[in-house]
Amino acid sequence: MSLPWLRESWLQVVSDIQKQRFGHAHCIPARADLGADTYCRALVDYLLCLRPQGKACGTCKSCLLQHAGTHPDYYEVRSEDDKAIGVGKIRELTQSLQETANQHGAKVAWVKNAERMTVEAANALLKTLEEPTENTYIILTPVKTNGLLPTLRSRMRLHKFKEPSWAETEAWLTQKLGHALSTDDQLRCRHLAHSPLVALSLLKGELADDTDHVGQLAQAMCANGVWPQPTKQDWSAWLQASEAWLQELIRLRQRVAAERLRFPHLSELAHDWLQRQQITVGELNAWLALCYNLRKLTSEQSGLNAPLLLQQQWLQWKHKP
Ligand SMILES: [Zn+2]
Repeated sequence: MSLPWLRESWLQVVSDIQKQRFGHAHCIPARADLGADTYCRALVDYLLCLRPQGKACGTCKSCLLQHAGTHPDYYEVRSEDDKAIGVGKIRELTQSLQETANQHGAKVAWVKNAERMTVEAANALLKTLEEPTENTYIILTPVKTNGLLPTLRSRMRLHKFKEPSWAETEAWLTQKLGHALSTDDQLRCRHLAHSPLVALSLLKGELADDTDHVGQLAQAMCANGVWPQPTKQDWSAWLQASEAWLQELIRLRQRVAAERLRFPHLSELAHDWLQRQQITVGELNAWLALCYNLRKLTSEQSGLNAPLLLQQQWLQWKHKP
């Protein structure tokens, strides 16, 4: 396992498989920011491999089929275009899992965005979990574990990842980038200590830096600047900026040390405004909770007008008598 913070979980899982103590149903949180995808892919390959040794061998017939994306005993189900995973897809899957393995090894199913399963689909899967066929493994990767039906959750092993500390993340980033982090880099990604992959993307310039978005929100909120018009394409970036800005205001209100601020160039503007408006940490936290809630809602339900919902939250920010 190349990602150091996942190594401990990985060794545990390998040891359980070797000792035949690995159950057939697993719920693994889809933490993209921690590399959960890499982890699950390695697990699937390991379970299918005919000669595994600490990881999939990469050379057996099963590994070659898997590498080519044509393994007949591997099944993947996912939500298309953010839509729900219906019962039809799950029935198709459970029927396939009843059949004998083609390669005389394991059968593995990976249900991505598992929280998108309809109740009917989840119930259909539940039946299979209650009566498992031999050497069959089902892996569910929901974005939010508690988005799954409790009856389903109780039949699965719930995996948890240990988040790296800032020191571990910084060491990994230094190794990945090939140089130590500058003070500026540290400032930009210190808040991403528990999301090392996001921090790496940010430092490599692959991720939109939210500094500009935050700047615009700060001007609108504190200096009567123009409020942005989020669209279906960019509302998520605006939500991220909203969270970042509220977190910064909370840090300012709590008078944290200057080196812990993310947007020091906006401090003066924010400070005057906080004084004038007498906004409390409690109010800021309540606004932040609404942002988190919007993120949760949009990940669980499709068809919401997210740009409009976000604008309604901003209305509250400016609606201070
Ligand atoms: Zn192999």
